[in-house]
Amino acid sequence: MLDYDIIALITAIATTFLTIPLYIVYDKKMKKKPFRLVKHLDIGQVTDVIIPPTISKKYDELNIKNIQLLYRKQVKKFLETLEKIVPKEYLQNFYNNINEIKFKPSFVKHLTIASAAGGYAPEINVIEFKAEEFFRVINHELLHMASATHFPQPNPDSEQNYLSGFVQFSDMGEIGRGFNEGYTVHLDHKYFSHQKHEPKGYKILGGIAKLFESIVGEQDMMKFYFTANLNGLYNLLCNYIPGNNIYQFLTDCDFIYSYGYGQNLIHPDFVARMKSIISFLITLAYSKLCITNDSEKENKIATFVNMIFNSISYDEIKQPIINAEEIKEAIITGEMFAEQMKSQTL
Ligand SMILES: [Zn+2]
Repeated sequence: MLDYDIIALITAIATTFLTIPLYIVYDKKMKKKPFRLVKHLDIGQVTDVIIPPTISKKYDELNIKNIQLLYRKQVKKFLETLEKIVPKEYLQNFYNNINEIKFKPSFVKHLTIASAAGGYAPEINVIEFKAEEFFRVINHELLHMASATHFPQPNPDSEQNYLSGFVQFSDMGEIGRGFNEGYTVHLDHKYFSHQKHEPKGYKILGGIAKLFESIVGEQDMMKFYFTANLNGLYNLLCNYIPGNNIYQFLTDCDFIYSYGYGQNLIHPDFVARMKSIISFLITLAYSKLCITNDSEKENKIATFVNMIFNSISYDEIKQPIINAEEIKEAIITGEMFAEQMKSQTL
């Protein structure tokens, strides 16, 4: 059971962040935009699709002559950084895609493939960007490219099936986009240490991905991201937490991706999703600590809770997204899951 001191400590941390009362403004945009996702983690059900993806070997290395002259320097710099950090075996998607990449600067207001400053379209292997935003977005888009792979076409009519980092999508729907954007933002900051102005939702998702990585570990996250293996990550997490909770976490992140802007940040639906995400992270962290018999588990979970408040505090909400009671509940759930998992493996 939990030590009373730890509960007191966590309560103290949570109440430190209690300042102004929640002020609700209803943003109509939130209602207009449909939010529909298809549970797609078991994409393996699609006939003939192989999960984890079999990554073909089209190219072994970067041939700089294949890159449009204007972008060679940037691509080289990106690869030099990546090769220092990421094991070569995880870079097959990078080599496959980079030698056939097309860069398309856009000088008009609206891009064809992205409404933001830049975008990567894996189905056509094109990076499109607003010309003036090139240096701000290029590494982020190259990370998407380096983690994207097609999977074998289940039938000739479905051309949209692909995997990119932690997002899976096909004609049937998609899952993981929010978590994938968050992790891409996090890697961009970590590898290329940019001080950039991300859209609010991306910034929040970046914080969530950073916390998530601190539980799972950098090496495994790197492996699953660059080999576009969401299923691999899912299976690893299933050692600590039930699959439905993982699915809920991913769809919550997709919700933040769709609605994480403006007045929505204080909308009750948004706050509920944030609570759900944070509870998930605490439960996962504590379950893993219990399963691995970590003797420091109570101190470590208190540190983790503290880290949450430092990573995902956003100016619009000056009160905790999650209260002490909910934190306690998430920890107890983690302990319960750990017991269940242990008894299953006996
Ligand atoms: Zn992106």
